[in-house]
Amino acid sequence: MTAEREIALIFDEIQCGLGRTGYFFAYENVGVIPDMLTLAKPLAGGLPMGAVLLSGEIGATIQPGDHGTTFGGGPLVAAVAGYVVDRLSDPSLLKAVRENGVWLGEQLDTVARRSGRVRAIRGTGYIWGLDVVESANEIVKRGWDEGLLALTAGEHTLRILPPLVMDRDDLMRGVQILERIIGQ
Ligand SMILES: *Cc1c(COP(=O)(O)O)cnc(C)c1O
Repeated sequence: MTAEREIALIFDEIQCGLGRTGYFFAYENVGVIPDMLTLAKPLAGGLPMGAVLLSGEIGATIQPGDHGTTFGGGPLVAAVAGYVVDRLSDPSLLKAVRENGVWLGEQLDTVARRSGRVRAIRGTGYIWGLDVVESANEIVKRGWDEGLLALTAGEHTLRILPPLVMDRDDLMRGVQILERIIGQ
């Protein structure tokens, strides 16, 4: 569709890329290859780094130095990013995120059914959103006291983004805390 009309297809994978869905790039889930793709936050494990990946055709239109940024490519941050990319290229890590992610979705579904406090769940791998009845922010705050770090995505959506190295025992601890605090 975009190719037919000569429109560049741009995917923002800052949150959903780099292994989050159990694939190195989230686009691998859908079998569509974008012309441009953005990466940032987890790219250097939280140190400041962003990147734009370009298809050959678009990449050919710019030269090194055209796309500058003050601290871009600093040696410390680049070394960390090199490590992160290596680590996230490990097929067994990605497979674990995919498989544990299916399992996590089932656990979240159970919490939703038992609590009656969740309207909908969406997600894959280690990226999940729960549409909650009450203020998501209130649940996030209760989590701080109980040892669960979650985020919001809008007023009534709880955002769950476990570290990619978490195993099922760790995930289960989080799910149990979530179950306690969601129904309060
Ligand atoms: C954080 C974020 C951005 C913005 O990244 P900056 O590096 O602050 O410009 C864009 N898209 C998504 C999905 C993000 O999470």
